[in-house]
Amino acid sequence: MFPTAIAGSLPKPDWLAEPQKLWPQWRATGEALAQTKADATLLWIKTQEDAGLDVIGDGEQARQHFVHGFVEQVEGIDFENKVRMGIRDNRYDAMVPQVMGPLRLKGRVHAMEAQLARAHTQRTLKFTLPGPMTIVDTVADQFYGGGSEGRIKMAFAFAELLNAEALALQADGVDIVQFDEPAFNVYMDEAADWGVQALERAAQGLTCKTAVHICYGYGIKANTDWKNTLGQEWRQYEKVFPALAKSSIRQVSLECAHSHVPMDLMALLEGKEVMVGVIDVASDAVETPEEVADTIGRALQFVPKMKLTACTNCGMAPMDRAIATRKLYALAQGAEIARQRHG
Ligand SMILES: [Zn+2]
Repeated sequence: MFPTAIAGSLPKPDWLAEPQKLWPQWRATGEALAQTKADATLLWIKTQEDAGLDVIGDGEQARQHFVHGFVEQVEGIDFENKVRMGIRDNRYDAMVPQVMGPLRLKGRVHAMEAQLARAHTQRTLKFTLPGPMTIVDTVADQFYGGGSEGRIKMAFAFAELLNAEALALQADGVDIVQFDEPAFNVYMDEAADWGVQALERAAQGLTCKTAVHICYGYGIKANTDWKNTLGQEWRQYEKVFPALAKSSIRQVSLECAHSHVPMDLMALLEGKEVMVGVIDVASDAVETPEEVADTIGRALQFVPKMKLTACTNCGMAPMDRAIATRKLYALAQGAEIARQRHG
């Protein structure tokens, strides 16, 4: 009951990349970089296990950013000449690569981290990929013709590539493939119209568990400023959850701790397993285990106890490493208290 997991990313150690940055520069190059990526992956597997987490991830140590890590391995994209683009409906500007031609995978994207992680943990292994709609929102289109038709075409093209990598991850022994779709909380109508369908295309044929993570973003200033404009009740999930409930995706990861998301929206996910965010990634204050257990307790009004995983609200990439580590311990200890309370 109440297995524990991270949403996806973890801070990169200072010797791997610039700390507390969303698009950090790597410290090394070539072979040395490959080695530091592997070392950091192992370090976080051990740390997650020591903290007591049940579902282990690679912490996204081998990718610079959760979207561009995938896109870098795609042919038809100009990664050298990035352009400035407003992303997440112009919430903030990012330097993004440009789609210039037909898309094709150059080869495997995450084989190294997935195989390394599988060789070094016996626990459930979750692996994250960006979702098609979020990728489309984080690259500049010079090929698919723009507009909503172009976005849809490009999303399904990326979904095919994601599907190939997801099937390969499953063959590597990954137990859960999770797609990250923060864009679902920004383009709610499009998410319900075609985003969920594109997601299902990306997950097609997978027999392992499939999941989607939808959040209000990393704890960076642009996101906290945006959240301040969303009012007292954040109802973004209301549009997409019914579409997800009908979909083949088995698990949904959502933001809950210190969030203005009305908890009853989780009831719209009837039949799904829910990864409830019980750790706030936008605050350096470390939750007490009791707080974590209380959040789990409140979520139990809307999620059956055998379907609840306790999770972080979002990735922890831009956080301080020591604080993130303490939050992992609080997560595991809080879930243990909840097991005693509700077992
Ligand atoms: Zn997130």
